[in-house]
Amino acid sequence: MTARIIDGLASAKRLRSELAAHAADMKARQGGIIPGLAVVLVGDDVASQVYVRNKTRVSEEVGFRSYAHQLPASTSEEELLELIADLNENPQVNGILVQLPLPEQINERTIIMAIDPIKDVDGFHPVNVGRQTAGLMSLAPCTPMGCMLLLQEIFPNLAGKKALVVGRSNIVGKPLALMLLRDNCTVTIAHSHTRDLASECRQADILVAAMGRPNFIQGDWIKPGATVIDVGINRVTDEATGKSHLRGDVDFEAAVKVAGAITPVPGGVGPMTIACLMQNTLQATMMQNGWA
Ligand code: NAP
Repeated sequence: MTARIIDGLASAKRLRSELAAHAADMKARQGGIIPGLAVVLVGDDVASQVYVRNKTRVSEEVGFRSYAHQLPASTSEEELLELIADLNENPQVNGILVQLPLPEQINERTIIMAIDPIKDVDGFHPVNVGRQTAGLMSLAPCTPMGCMLLLQEIFPNLAGKKALVVGRSNIVGKPLALMLLRDNCTVTIAHSHTRDLASECRQADILVAAMGRPNFIQGDWIKPGATVIDVGINRVTDEATGKSHLRGDVDFEAAVKVAGAITPVPGGVGPMTIACLMQNTLQATMMQNGWA
């Protein structure tokens, strides 16, 4: 068997064009309202710079206003809190994203708590986490949202599927497990203390790997025909050539022969994360205007 490749690039493109159409419609019908996304970067982390550039570019592509704030690595927590207070007050800004990680003098939790929950387009504020847990409308984390949209392309109805989420971080594993539960999957969460991960994997109709361990999940751990969502993004260097490549958490070459469907890395979950950030910005704009 060769698995169907779940094309995250194509799905993200479709979602972006739907969002662009919504944004244009909102501008035309609602007195010129244009969603505004503020992206804040502190320091010179190269990977973060790339993420922020992409987020700003896509935001402009879908017709939103984007506000990029690039602060030096020496920025104090107080200075960053002042900027967030300004962005919370600014009616042109509907979504605020502070790129993580932050320099060590700044407490991430304090910063996340300072963002107005209705502008928290990363979905990390405890108010949004609590609302999501209680099944209320909330801004949800983007990567799990992207995984769910990809899964819905394979399964119109997820009810009764056995899902295994490997990883329990606050940004991927835990919220994704909640979303799968909401859609009536029977959910297991695995982590670094799980005994016999291989046998847990072999029982899963849906296997999500979000561990940050390159090629960790082996082909013979996968139930034949299962759907595999690989969230991992790991940069590995080929010893022979010295070139670096992106790898997921799943051994793709082996898994593709066993699974029914699988996301590639790159080109799977990654593009969906940014598209879902735009969806959250649009949703935040609608909520702030009382339309949701
Ligand atoms: P994280 O905070 O480091 O969490 C990793 C999780 O994996 C932890 O819960 C950890 O368990 C678990 N884990 C680690 N080794 C394990 C093992 N041997 N067996 C079972 N579980 C194990 O990472 P994250 O932020 O969730 O990110 C996970 C991966 O997704 C990374 O590669 C990251 O780059 C990628 N990512 C991709 C996107 C995207 O847009 N595609 C977005 C976010 C993250 P413990 O809790 O017990 O330590």
